[in-house]
Amino acid sequence: VIIVSGAVCALLAVGAGIYLASRALRPIQQAWNKQQEFVADASHELRTPLTVMKTSLERLFRHPDHTIEQESEGISDAIDEANRMNKLVSQLLTLARSDSNELEILRQPMRIDTLVERMADRFRELAMLKEIELESTVDSPVEILADEERLQQLLVILLDNALKYTQEGGRVQISCRKMANHVQIEVTDNGIGISAEDVPRVFDRFFRGDKMRARTHPGTGLGLSIAKWIVEVHGGKIRAESELGQGTTMSVRLPLRG
Ligand code: ADP
Repeated sequence: VIIVSGAVCALLAVGAGIYLASRALRPIQQAWNKQQEFVADASHELRTPLTVMKTSLERLFRHPDHTIEQESEGISDAIDEANRMNKLVSQLLTLARSDSNELEILRQPMRIDTLVERMADRFRELAMLKEIELESTVDSPVEILADEERLQQLLVILLDNALKYTQEGGRVQISCRKMANHVQIEVTDNGIGISAEDVPRVFDRFFRGDKMRARTHPGTGLGLSIAKWIVEVHGGKIRAESELGQGTTMSVRLPLRG
């Protein structure tokens, strides 16, 4: 009896050990699966521009008698795809390095209000080309502890999207408000908006919305996932609010200095 109950106890202990180990390993397994998915999605996304470039080059090769003018459309498509791939690769690198905590974040005292104004000025010219009015409302001074280069990258992503997803003649507003313990930055547009079911997914890697929109508005689906990483690494929060056909507001909350 003693031997049998001893064996049962040992079996139970082993069983419990396996169960606990598999539970402890679950997050690692999940992270691994996520990483595999990321690599698969990245490879898939890289294949499209490569195919376009390859097709254009092969066409040039098949028609050595054609002039550059005759082939200009194919050449211009290849250049567009090369540019898109360039952006995609640098965004992929940022995300891969952020996953492995390889990116150094240099938090220093900085004036977020001046950065917001500077970026608004920089994007105003681009907005004018699309006849979009870009307005900025900024409290001043607002000092925070942050990596200025990363925050610049964040504002570029948000302003870029606001202009990209807003029709000609539209309006984009950027504001920077000093609150009791944080600074609130909002980029609002009255563009095409995002459907209620898609709003929670816009920060997912490679998420691009419906097929039609993805075709008419070139992009990589990585900008907002980088934006989320930048905000979170600064101890902040980012949120999307939107209504299809009405417009979108992206709000960023960052802790004030001290
Ligand atoms: P990209 O713009 O390169 O596709 P993002 O990660 O920046 O990638 O954005 C993900 C998706 O969220 C976009 O494809 C688009 O469908 C939606 N989106 C982002 N910003 C806006 C915006 N201001 N207005 C409407 N849709 C937006």
